[in-house]
Amino acid sequence: MERWEVFQGVYVHTPFCLQKCLYCDFPSYSGFPEEVRQQYVEALCREIEIRSRQRDLPVAEGATVYFGGGTPTVLSEEQIGQIVGCLKRNGFWKKPAEATIEANPGTVNPEKLKTLRELGFDRISIGVQSLQDKELRALGRIHTAEQALRAVEEAKQAGFQRINADLMSGIPCQTVESFCNTLDAMLRMNLSHLSVYSLILEEGTPLERLVEKGNVSLPDEETSYSMYEMTRSRLEQAGLKRYEISNYAVPGEESLHNKVYWHYEPYAAFGVGACTFTGNERRTNTIDVREYINAWSAVIVALQSKESATFEKNISAAGSDCTLWETETLDRKTQISEAMIMALRMTEGVDLNIMQRRFGADISKYYEREIQMLLDKKMAEREAGVLRLTPYGMRYGNRAFEAFV
Ligand code: SF4
Repeated sequence: MERWEVFQGVYVHTPFCLQKCLYCDFPSYSGFPEEVRQQYVEALCREIEIRSRQRDLPVAEGATVYFGGGTPTVLSEEQIGQIVGCLKRNGFWKKPAEATIEANPGTVNPEKLKTLRELGFDRISIGVQSLQDKELRALGRIHTAEQALRAVEEAKQAGFQRINADLMSGIPCQTVESFCNTLDAMLRMNLSHLSVYSLILEEGTPLERLVEKGNVSLPDEETSYSMYEMTRSRLEQAGLKRYEISNYAVPGEESLHNKVYWHYEPYAAFGVGACTFTGNERRTNTIDVREYINAWSAVIVALQSKESATFEKNISAAGSDCTLWETETLDRKTQISEAMIMALRMTEGVDLNIMQRRFGADISKYYEREIQMLLDKKMAEREAGVLRLTPYGMRYGNRAFEAFV
């Protein structure tokens, strides 16, 4: 079977955070009591069990696992263990080539990190964002720079050899110098992977309102550009090679799970707001925590009470009654367009022969005009059947991607 015919990754979403960051528009919520968190874990396990019976696609041996959020580490060790056990029993945790958990400084300690290693996680992604307390406060983060560095150190001591830190540029009151200090301090931790994102001012977030009212100002375009340029040169000098627009790794230490997304390969996803991708279809779960909990309980009741009806009818009925999920069918044109955009995010680019095998289309002809336009503008280069963005094309990635929409 080809890689794109089998689930290559498994994602589990935890929608809880101790406090909502000012810039965040992810499906994550603060303030839910422990009781609701436990109900959520049980609903999540029901979803995993039922989806395993539905069998959208087989799960590849070694499929990667990723616990994201929100903050998965707000769950207790027992709750995380309950989910891992459920994934194993239902064939979604099959000797994963990589099992990552996201963690927020302030929600982990040495014992918890040790337990995560024992549960089978071999990679941890820590939301550091900045190593300047003033900037962390401006983002509404719950931790200090010292706590972030301690979390990284404790993760190492717990036996995590593969550690990522998320950093951010374009933070209110950030300067080129303060950003540079954060990068240097992070590089001294000798991690094998760093993700460096530019802050995006999302609609409806408290930060957007603060900026609109003039209470907070963001670094100007020139400063942001200097930070962008500095990121690549400093990290590459330190041996972390850019392999995706915002991701850098020691060669061989790239995130295998994220590569599943960028290679447009199928993945199963569970939990609030989680989005399963089969290649032909995208199914997105409700972002409402209580609706999710109630609905998955209803699915169980439906299954128990209508023994004669088929499983699929029951599950669809429960889904349509309460908009438990939405399904989008992807036609071939959309699939080709999305696959191009995802692959061009990576410095390795798009292998046009693989695209032809997968979609039965000669991409050089299919997108002849668009590819030529990118080549003419020096935003892309083509070599031995591979199309990739140049550093200039990566800088203006969105403009390059528009060509394929
Ligand atoms: S920790 Fe992450 S998911 Fe939670 S509110 Fe902050 S940015 Fe959002």
